[in-house]
Amino acid sequence: MPNDKQFGFATRAIHSGQEPDPETGAVSPPIYPTSTYVQQALGKNKGYEYARVSNPTRTRLEENLATLEGGIASRVFASGMAAINAITTMYKSGDHVVCGNNLYGGTPRLFNQILTGYGLEFTYVDTSDVKNVERALRKNTRMVYVETPTNPLMALSDIQAISRVCRRAKAEFVVDNTFMSPYFQQPLSLGADMVVHSTTKFLNGHSDGLGGVVVCSKPEQVERLSFVQKAAGAILSPFESWLILRGVKTLAVRMEQHDKNGRIVADFLSTHKKVKRVYYPGLPDHPQYELAQRQMTGFGSMISFETGSLANANKMLKKVRVCSLAESLGGVETLISHPATMTHAGIGVKGRRDIGITDGMVRISVGIENVEDIIADLDQALAAI
Ligand SMILES: *Cc1c(COP(=O)(O)O)cnc(C)c1O
Repeated sequence: MPNDKQFGFATRAIHSGQEPDPETGAVSPPIYPTSTYVQQALGKNKGYEYARVSNPTRTRLEENLATLEGGIASRVFASGMAAINAITTMYKSGDHVVCGNNLYGGTPRLFNQILTGYGLEFTYVDTSDVKNVERALRKNTRMVYVETPTNPLMALSDIQAISRVCRRAKAEFVVDNTFMSPYFQQPLSLGADMVVHSTTKFLNGHSDGLGGVVVCSKPEQVERLSFVQKAAGAILSPFESWLILRGVKTLAVRMEQHDKNGRIVADFLSTHKKVKRVYYPGLPDHPQYELAQRQMTGFGSMISFETGSLANANKMLKKVRVCSLAESLGGVETLISHPATMTHAGIGVKGRRDIGITDGMVRISVGIENVEDIIADLDQALAAI
């Protein structure tokens, strides 16, 4: 859609890159399962030569996600981790990166167990205080990498404040926006240089496909990431691209409902006798409630809460019926998980203690089922404690 900035978010989600097929008028974009494209003459083609380099279904998705995040272009990859890895290929041995100390578990695993072997250096700090970011900067710092809110502690970082620090230090500022989606948080408009998502979560929204995207604000980033797609090859398939194009059409209505249900479930948990503490940026007692209201246009549906012990968590998680005990998040169905033994097992006891993840902590990705059914399910499960 040309000039699509004049349209609202839901309209762009449904129409940007989602134009009818010019050949047949098909309303749903075609999937092009092809590895190569016939050329008209030497050096003459229709813009497509080989499918690792580009594919029309993928091009449509890249257009769509770029407009939703307010970027100039985006590039999609086979998973969120492949997208994050693609960003790191912009740096070289001896470069330094400052990151949040409570990132999605796979990210420090990539950084510490693969990329340090290639000479990249990483420092982890609590980015919820911008002063910690400032103090960690070095002469060779090239990137600051932040998730807000964090998983599972739901701590926020001030995107605007960190972007100012990055500008002064000439470091690129990358925000993993997976938890909020572009519907509730727009990091590029707050000064970030790139946004990354695991599209596996809210963007696709149906727990049926893996993917990742990097949304860019500068032409040189786009050029580099296009080269990484071609050279390293971890591209998103045409079918998965299509799944996300379909999923994203309902992003606005899903996020509205996730947010509504999230607020109701957070309120319910915060007054429940068996629950000792609730982590949700939409509760007035969240330490960064003010920042949440300023930086996000909704609070989303990711909630963590404290049951008191591993035994208590286990007792309740064995009883859930509407909620499914599973890793991942952002699907239409409510998923409930236990960070200490599932998503955050890899960082070890000390790693968890350092950032405040307890054995009794339970994380919930509130889905869009009838909220009274979710609450009744949690209530009967909590009764087992
Ligand atoms: C899931 C997730 C990732 C990794 O994405 P995959 O698609 O699983 O590779 C990265 N960041 C966050 C915040 C995530 O939730």
